[in-house]
Amino acid sequence: DFKVTLPYASKDELGELAVAIQKLAKDLERLKKERNEFLASISHELSTPLTYLIGYAKVAMRKDLNEKERDRYLSIIAEEADGMKDLVKDLLDLARIDENSFTVNKEYFWSQPFLDNIYKLVEPSFLNKELKLKTESKKNFQIYADPLRLQQIVINLLDNAMKYSDYGKEVRLEAYSLNGRAVISVSDEGIGIPSDEIEFIFDRLYRVEKSRSRTYGGSGIGLSVVKELVEAHGGTIEVESKLGKGSTFKIMI
Ligand code: ADP
Repeated sequence: DFKVTLPYASKDELGELAVAIQKLAKDLERLKKERNEFLASISHELSTPLTYLIGYAKVAMRKDLNEKERDRYLSIIAEEADGMKDLVKDLLDLARIDENSFTVNKEYFWSQPFLDNIYKLVEPSFLNKELKLKTESKKNFQIYADPLRLQQIVINLLDNAMKYSDYGKEVRLEAYSLNGRAVISVSDEGIGIPSDEIEFIFDRLYRVEKSRSRTYGGSGIGLSVVKELVEAHGGTIEVESKLGKGSTFKIMI
């Protein structure tokens, strides 16, 4: 029987190596635990809407339904499936970011048509919730970024603004150029974020209060993807929020 004990209390190289190995082992253990928790949450996130999907699909197949009832069930099915698609897309992005196989194709484009296009894409959902959407670009200026990724970032922020605002409220999308950087901000008059939780909202799977996510849906993935995408551009993201008053997310690229 052969046993090696590293005298990790000693100050020589061997001691340092022993400390380093122990730290690595601990990190590995923690990563494994985090990965398992992540997988468990994701499985849960996907299985909940699936359960609804299956349930509503079975109801929609019933022979005694009239057309209106069937349409209602089918639209719920489409909505749930849409949510699942978004989640899977976010997960793929996260995986690509982790693998570093993620590319940002920067090019120059004008701010005004960029905002106009986003407005067109999100307007129907805003109308659906009777929310007002105001877009403002003080001056038409050039942005240097990956247009599709930047669109994904802004739409993600607008989706949140919409999700966490009541009917009839206003959401503002603004863009301007400051010291050679493009600033894009999304402000809402929604429920706001408690100040002691703001630092966590960009963490993967973090959601403010479980009860909130039950009412508002969501997986806690969106903002972590937004942050990684902004950082992949070499940019920064800031948030200001007051509980019950609203939030402003500002990205600088
Ligand atoms: P989710 O899919 O749950 O919305 P996100 O990563 O997009 O996940 O956001 C994390 C948490 O931050 C959300 O659960 C929500 O509580 C909070 N949050 C994000 N955006 C807003 C907002 N505009 N207003 C209020 N709370 C927000």
